[in-house]
Amino acid sequence: MHFAQSHHFGPVQSLQMGVGYFAPPPVKVHAFLVDGLLIDTGPPKLEKELLAWLEDKPFQQAFITHHHEDHSGNVNGLHRRFQRPIYGSAACSRLAQGQVRTSIPQLIYWGRPRYTNKVQPYTQNLLHTEHHQFQLIPIPGHADDQVALFEPQQGWLFSADAFVHPYIKYYMRYESMQQQINSLQKLIALDFEQLFCCHTPLMKGGKKQLQQKLAYLQNYYAQVVHWHHKGCSPREIMAQMQQKERWGQYLLSGGYMAAINMVNAVLRDEQLTRKANA
Ligand SMILES: [Zn+2]
Repeated sequence: MHFAQSHHFGPVQSLQMGVGYFAPPPVKVHAFLVDGLLIDTGPPKLEKELLAWLEDKPFQQAFITHHHEDHSGNVNGLHRRFQRPIYGSAACSRLAQGQVRTSIPQLIYWGRPRYTNKVQPYTQNLLHTEHHQFQLIPIPGHADDQVALFEPQQGWLFSADAFVHPYIKYYMRYESMQQQINSLQKLIALDFEQLFCCHTPLMKGGKKQLQQKLAYLQNYYAQVVHWHHKGCSPREIMAQMQQKERWGQYLLSGGYMAAINMVNAVLRDEQLTRKANA
């Protein structure tokens, strides 16, 4: 069953979208609309709902925070229906044209990714709407092309998928923990009040939660390095850290979404750091 619920966070509106099978959707995602600017477009399965929601709204332009299908999923439909400019980082524009990586659980809950050449590369640091000016801040780690939007006058931070939850239990195969740590530090340094996370918007206490996530990842990273230096394999490192694999998800996704990917991310990051310092 398709789930689409509209919300108001002051002048920021959102459509929260998800798909459930005989149960509420296990994962949902917001597309935000503020001052004519649509931030992300939701998953392909919810195209009809997103377009219907926008029908009576002053939609002027869109910005895609990153190419994952629950954010860029309806760019083609949006372009067809409204013919407004749709922007993203240069990397997002490029990645959205290629094959967006996916897995069975993602196909079930978001739908098949749609390649699109309709994301225009936006290379300036500021994006203007009629009443606001948004700073565009690259925050790679979860995805290479990920960008946050910060409106300093209002204290709004649109953080894409940099937050989601303070205690992350699994990674997709290509995430970087070191880059996520750097990106979180960048976001925490900003003076914001409201955290418009696409999966978990927080009107209060967002900065504290980002700090919790940063501390969690820093500690996790240090522990993996510690056990790696003791000669443990990735699975042995998980056992030492009492981290359990999510086998159902692991098997369904062919290892694409798994707890072990967090350990591997750290080992990959460490190797890169060593190479850079050599
Ligand atoms: Zn994502």
